[in-house]
Parts: sequence; C-alpha cells; structure tokens
Amino acid sequence: MTASFAAPQTDGAVSAAFIEKRPLEQYVAPDKPSLVGLTRDALAVALGTIGVPERQQRMRVQQIWHWLYVRGAQDFDAMTTLSKELRAELARHFTAARPEVVAEQTSVDGTRKWLLRLPGETDSRPCEVECVYIPETDRGTLCISSQVGCTLNCTFCHTGTQRLVRNLAAGEIVGQVVLARDRLSDWQRAASPNGEGDKRLVSNVVMMGMGEPLYNFEAVRDGLNVVADGDGLSISKRRITLSTSGVVPNIARAGEEIGSMLAISLHAVTDELRDQLVPLNRKYPLRELLDACRNYPGVSNARRITFEYVMLKGINDSLVDARALVRLVKGIPAKINLIPFNPWPDTQYECSDWEQIEKFSEVIFNAGYASPVRTPRGRDILAACGQLKSATEKLSARERLALRAMAMTD
Ligand code: SAH
Ligand code: SF4
Repeated sequence: MTASFAAPQTDGAVSAAFIEKRPLEQYVAPDKPSLVGLTRDALAVALGTIGVPERQQRMRVQQIWHWLYVRGAQDFDAMTTLSKELRAELARHFTAARPEVVAEQTSVDGTRKWLLRLPGETDSRPCEVECVYIPETDRGTLCISSQVGCTLNCTFCHTGTQRLVRNLAAGEIVGQVVLARDRLSDWQRAASPNGEGDKRLVSNVVMMGMGEPLYNFEAVRDGLNVVADGDGLSISKRRITLSTSGVVPNIARAGEEIGSMLAISLHAVTDELRDQLVPLNRKYPLRELLDACRNYPGVSNARRITFEYVMLKGINDSLVDARALVRLVKGIPAKINLIPFNPWPDTQYECSDWEQIEKFSEVIFNAGYASPVRTPRGRDILAACGQLKSATEKLSARERLALRAMAMTD
C-alpha cells in the first residue's frame, strides 16, 4: 500500500479514490471474437450476423453449446454435427479461443495457478489475471477472477494495491472455467446429470480471485449463468460462491439474477475498524451490509451465507471480537470462515498466532457455528487469497503513472 492510498487521518471528507478506483473503459476486443461465454441469446444473434436463418438458430445454438461446454471443442472443425459450410463460415468470423496462458505453476500441495493474458486497453498493452485450481479430497475448486486488479483498496489485500483495473467480459469469466477443464483434461471425465458422483475435477467455482464481482455485475451474472447451465458446464449454483466485500445495492440483485451462494468479506465487527480494513465500509456500513444478508433471496439453513474473516494479529483477533462477531451475525443462517492472513511484501499486517486463531475459532464453535479455518493453499506459488497480483504491475513507474492518470478519478 503506497502513501497515495493511505487512510486519511482526520474525520474529514474521505477521498473517493481511497474507497474505489474507476476501471479503464476502452476495452479493445479481438478482431475475431470468441464464442466462449456468450449467453444463448447473444450466440443466436452472432449466428444471425453470419446468415444463419432465424428458424435454425435455436438448434444451432444448442449444438454449438454442447460442443463448447460438454465436449470442450477448441475449434469449429471438431463440431462434426454442423455442416462443413457452417463450420467454415463460423471459423471465418469467430473463434472458440480461451484466455491465453502465459505461465502455469503447480504447488507442492497440488494447487495449480495459471497466469492468463487478456486483450489490452487502448494502449494495446495486454492485461493479466490469475486463476487457481485447488484440489481437495471431495471436490476441486476453481478460484476465478472478475476484474484485472480490483476497484477497491482493502488495506490487507495485495490485489487491492494494483492500480490498473479493467472489468473482465463474461467470456473471459467463462473462459477461465473452460481453460481449467482443458488444462486438467477434465472434459473426458464423466459428469453425472444430477451432479452426484461427478468425476470431474472442477466441481466448484468460487469468485474469490482478483476483483470485486459486484462492481462488474452484468458480466459476472452472464458468465456465471453460462457456467451453471445444465446443458453445458453444469456447475450447479449451489457449487458456485460469489464473494463480495459488501457492495450492498447489488447483493439483492445478485440473489435474484445469479442465485449463487454468497460469501461476505467481513473481517471486522465495528465500523471503525472495518472502515480501515475495507474502505468500502464507509459507503455501505455494517448495519446495511448485515440487513442485505438477512434479506438475501433464498438464504436458509440449507443455503447459508459464508462470512470470511481474515485473522490479523493484534488488529481483529481478540476474543472480544470473536464474541462480537457471533452477536453480529445472530439470526442469519451463517458459516464463518477464518482465513489466516497471507502476508505479502511491504504489508503492514501480520497473521495472528495459531493459538489465537484456535481460541477465536472455539468461541465461534461454542456459539453453534462451524468455524473452519481455511488452510492456506499454494503459498509457495503465491496463489493464496489476496496474493493474486499479475505482472501488469511490472510496468515502469512512469508507465504506471500514465495509465493510472487515465484510470482513476480523484
Ligand atoms: N473482492 C472479493 C473477492 C476476492 S477476495 C472480496 O473481497 O470478497 C477473496 C477473499 O480473500 C476475501 O475474503 C478477501 O478479503 C480475502 N483476502 C484478501 N487478501 C487477503 C490476504 N492477504 N490474506 C488472506 N485473505 C485475504
Ligand atoms: Fe478487492 Fe476483495 Fe482485495 Fe478488497 S479483498 S481489494 S474487494 S479483491
């Protein structure tokens, strides 16, 4: 965190830039767009533009959908249920491209991280995001990104320190899932129609990579609806979790239009502290955030909200905090995830001592909540929470300044 985003010391007007940055807007799409990630409606429109008659569009969409999302086809040649002419016409105008992988790393614990290159902005410099696969005994979770960098500036988060922000398109969100299935040879494994006994490696998706998903609402909604589609990638909404730092006005909308599981990055139990850790709290304070959780469509004991709480030594980890946390979420069907802080270079925070995390967890457990401590994964490849920060950061100071001036409001 550099001085320009340090918390203001006085109670005076808070600089808007401290709370949120504005994403770059001029996204330069490739000449030949990829069909990966289009909604069914958008796909039908795309087919219309190359002359597929309206009465055929539904059927063609269904066929292409199957090839893209069940069979994992990477080009139109593979789509043998389509006529040769249509395949050639598709290839003339579109691709089935995924985001380009520029680096792949595998951790000693099996976690895999891909650095993905996406088309750049007006200066044509490409953007990079990271995507992480975390294998566990009973599931495989893919952690995907919603933005390059993040619009917000949480002080404990490495991604938040990245200056350059661009929203991902829906296709780039879906592209991360498709790409992971490619790299893990997951297409060939059996999926079961009801999700039970599924042998696929990518069984769950969490939107907990780079970015604040509710600040890129439409693309995240469209992308996740494609990921959940039962005739395609088929990852059910109960296995998709969207994590937000608390964009209150979009929480109800997420429930209605996406309907995934919800996770809230809480991290503090008083507004005073949360204002410092998650500056967005100044805009949407705790009371409003918790009300939005209470009213989240579909919330029930079977569909609990996860509250994420990063353990910061001497900051938010006292037992007084633990008891206040229990009181705060009272009445909301909740799970509480304690996340050991993952340190990054120059951070001002430290991870709580293990003993303290255990004591904290016990208070929560005794109050009747499961309180799993999220085991840090992939630490050796810097893939754990809040450490996703791409090579975009490797710009020279002058280049960064110029781009920042374009990107940000003060
Ligand atoms: N922007 C969204 C989703 C991405 S962050 C959000 O904030 O919810 C995913 C989770 O990792 C969040 O709970 C975030 O607060 C947490 N996190 C960020 N930096 C971290 C760090 N250095 N150590 C541990 N958890 C961190
Ligand atoms: Fe953005 Fe989430 Fe990091 Fe906050 S914790 S800066 S919202 S990615």
